[in-house]
Amino acid sequence: MSELAPCAVSEHNTRGRIVREEAPFGRSEFQRDRDRIIHSTAFRRLEYKTQVFVNHEGDLFRTRLTHSMEVAQIARSIARHLKFNEDLVEAISLAHDLGHTPFGHAGQDALNACMKEHGGFEHNLQSLRVVDVLEERYAAFDGLNLCFETREGILKHCSLENAARLGVVGERFINKQRPSLEAQIANLADEIAYNNHDVDDGLRSGLITLEQIASVRLFAMHLDAVRQTYPNLSERRLIHETIRRMINTLVSDLLRQTEQNIRAHGIQNLADVRSAPPLAAFSTEVREMNRELKSFLHTHLYRHYRVMRMSAKAHRIIGDLFRAFMEDNRLLPPQYQWQAEADQARAVADYIAGMTDRYAIREHHRIFAVEED
Ligand code: MG
Repeated sequence: MSELAPCAVSEHNTRGRIVREEAPFGRSEFQRDRDRIIHSTAFRRLEYKTQVFVNHEGDLFRTRLTHSMEVAQIARSIARHLKFNEDLVEAISLAHDLGHTPFGHAGQDALNACMKEHGGFEHNLQSLRVVDVLEERYAAFDGLNLCFETREGILKHCSLENAARLGVVGERFINKQRPSLEAQIANLADEIAYNNHDVDDGLRSGLITLEQIASVRLFAMHLDAVRQTYPNLSERRLIHETIRRMINTLVSDLLRQTEQNIRAHGIQNLADVRSAPPLAAFSTEVREMNRELKSFLHTHLYRHYRVMRMSAKAHRIIGDLFRAFMEDNRLLPPQYQWQAEADQARAVADYIAGMTDRYAIREHHRIFAVEED
């Protein structure tokens, strides 16, 4: 890796791993984190988990896996330009959705409702739980034993109550400090990725139309420019060219504004980053345009009746599964039965959260269908 900015996370200022390990040979600590994430079971499951569209609705829609790869791509280009730790942003980006339930946000809401009396369910916290506890692959420790900075990047949000239980990785929520710039960048890359690919998937599925989204400034300004230069472009190419220009606008603005914020706050090192206000940010104008795009997607895509039907189905499937496993934990696979002896609700939540969309649908069928397959 080329030289890092003084405020970047590096192998010299990392707070390290919970279980001490020998330094890796031929790769950096954060490359090792990334490699462990890619080899995890939870990572492979992302291929069959919903972003907005259920996996089997079409082969071209984003899944959590392709979403995570797009986040990593955007985050890495930003990190490279700003001389932040590219390996770290890649690791955070690839791991950030590992704790997601099947069926996207509807699934998380449903599981959270089921877990109301049992400490709740939050996908950020679950992502951390996956890499800290649930992956069983290494002889010397549970989980992946990732570096502190990768773990803090995965834990984007957290209630104060949970923060207090989490030890060192929860401290920043209590002390009102910021995570590393790498974590801040991965977070914004996530937002850039999903806003833009949801526009693409929304248009492709026909749930939103070009006419509708032409009311969004960020989209309209690029659409008009592309139409003017290429009046005879096919609609697919017109959409793609418009979206790539939107991503470019957001990324360039983020680069410029972040550089400016680092300078304006006189940031010299990682400790300065932690005590400053959030430094990775869009300019006021672009933030406003981005907000407009988000609210458009909320109204026209995420609350579209076809998406709502999928959400209702997700609520039903997850609620049914949760109740069935709570009533009789002998229905759980053996490893979860064992865990259920200590905390049944958490074991059930871990099992359900780990399911892919199609596994949850099949499991529901196996438990509730009267007729044979
Ligand atoms: Mg995401």
